[in-house]
Amino acid sequence: MKFEIYLTTILIILCSACNGPKSPESLPKAKNSEKIYTLVEMSHADISQLDKEKTVVLLQGGILEEHGPHLPVWSDGYISMQATRDVAQIIADSTDLNVLIFPIVPLGTAGFNGVGGKDIYPGTYAVTFSVLRAIFMNLATELGEQGFSKIMVIHIHGTQEHSLAIDQACEYFDDTYDGFMVNLFSLAGINWYQDDKFKSEEEISEDPWAVHADMFETSLTLYLVPDLVKDRHKEQEPLSYESWEDILQLSSESDWQGYVGSPRLASQELGKKIMHAWSSALGSIAIRIIKGEDYSVMSKWSDGHEPGKHSREIDDQHEKWLRSKGYLYTR
Ligand SMILES: [Zn+2]
Repeated sequence: MKFEIYLTTILIILCSACNGPKSPESLPKAKNSEKIYTLVEMSHADISQLDKEKTVVLLQGGILEEHGPHLPVWSDGYISMQATRDVAQIIADSTDLNVLIFPIVPLGTAGFNGVGGKDIYPGTYAVTFSVLRAIFMNLATELGEQGFSKIMVIHIHGTQEHSLAIDQACEYFDDTYDGFMVNLFSLAGINWYQDDKFKSEEEISEDPWAVHADMFETSLTLYLVPDLVKDRHKEQEPLSYESWEDILQLSSESDWQGYVGSPRLASQELGKKIMHAWSSALGSIAIRIIKGEDYSVMSKWSDGHEPGKHSREIDDQHEKWLRSKGYLYTR
């Protein structure tokens, strides 16, 4: 019996060695789905085995950004990572496509702290608009040149400038290669979110919308990484508002603590509900696009926006230094 097992093992090893490239069935897979592949675990031979026409690439991103005294600076990253896992599962369950998940890009542009004019703030480590766009244009080029034709970006961070950088990289892919590259967050926007679906009347008066490190985002983070929040959100005083002007005013105060709204109203149960609703919204846009819906006519979160002043100032500062040293490319 033992000998039989030993012999079978040897045969399996020999067969896998003499059969040439591994079959797609033998590639590394996420635990929950045989059609979901994790790029960092694969060799180039594994990746070459994928049928590119039948593979959706998911690029995920998170910004390092202050989220008040009660939330980790990787809050948006945790939300993007969960949304990516959920969307991968939705695609694997609803289509005959494979999903290839890239590791998360830990960079984004335009932290919320800039809204009130605090461009530099502990916990926020942003790149400029042009750098974020270049990162995703570079990935678009690599993927397009290698024959991938279905690319979806999940990079959850609410400033429109941030979405615009990724939207422009997607536009570059569409103009240059066959297939599509889309920014799911920008296409889903916030239309799926309705306060009265998630909050009572009293809660709405204390925490009117979904903005930053507030009831909404604190609930999500509490749901995803409770040990990193503990009960710190309960100590934050509500910073309510009635208009966008009020938010600008609050966030420009010298002692502003990096959040608006009312984190103390957050709960894990609410976070679970919101995460499910958000992933479903992103997943349903993804499926509509895979099935051929024309996304060029859909509205985008970045519509009507342009790169911010801080990004342009930092780019100028860098370019000036590079020029002074003779390090700029001659194009
Ligand atoms: Zn956030």
